[in-house]
Amino acid sequence: MANLQLQDIEKAFGSVKVIKGVNLTVNHGEFCVFVGPSGCGKSTLLRMISGLDSVSGGRITIDGDLVNDVAAADRGLSMVFQSYALYPHMSVRQNLSFGLENLNTPRDVIKKKIDEVATMLQIHELLDRKPKDLSGGQRQRVAIGRAVVREPRIFLFDEPLSNLDAELRVDMRGEIAQLHKRLGNTMIYVTHDQVEAMTMADKIAVLRAGVVEQFGAPLELYHSPVNQFVAGFIGSPK
Ligand code: ADP
Ligand code: MG
Repeated sequence: MANLQLQDIEKAFGSVKVIKGVNLTVNHGEFCVFVGPSGCGKSTLLRMISGLDSVSGGRITIDGDLVNDVAAADRGLSMVFQSYALYPHMSVRQNLSFGLENLNTPRDVIKKKIDEVATMLQIHELLDRKPKDLSGGQRQRVAIGRAVVREPRIFLFDEPLSNLDAELRVDMRGEIAQLHKRLGNTMIYVTHDQVEAMTMADKIAVLRAGVVEQFGAPLELYHSPVNQFVAGFIGSPK
């Protein structure tokens, strides 16, 4: 069974349609990248999957269950944003444990999970700091850690590396790829960066103006782009 299925998904803001009938199937464990120019609807699509935005039409199913009317918190997903979205008044440790405390997870279980995740993301020495005392890369590690702690069915990333400098971006790409290998979860990763898409993805969806122009493996898109737009965007020789 597909992990995530989008059927005829549409989104309108007022009279403006920004997502125009998107169909996608993502299998368990896949690293799926949504790529496309600024304003093409990547974030809107991700927000509808997460439940932060409602759909104007179509069906979203997770593991076969229709989730259109399921609240964001109950979809079992974790989202990582470009802007980190950490709680500024809380320590790193509190940022990591916050969601779990709401779920009434026992204290010793929370402590063990935070320990594991801190080791995985090398943030042990940051646990008692506040977000303002962290670098951009450290903040994003914590934000990813917070997503991991929740043990989501699917990870959603919205341009998580855009605020980082080029060198750090390359390091973090590697870390996210390692995390994917280690956890094996499905990851949906939004970026406008072709290199990021080509190097990280199992599958790429190329979006333009609210439409998926092509969906497939990186090499498939590279060697057999369906049109000039995809070719240009992926950087294939055609
Ligand atoms: P991307 O993430 O690919 O840059 P977005 O999903 O943010 O694109 O935006 C897609 C389109 O929807 C853009 O034209 C944007 O202006 C519009 N849009 C996004 N959110 C809103 C909103 N809350 N109200 C009105 N228009 C919006
Ligand atoms: Mg966006």
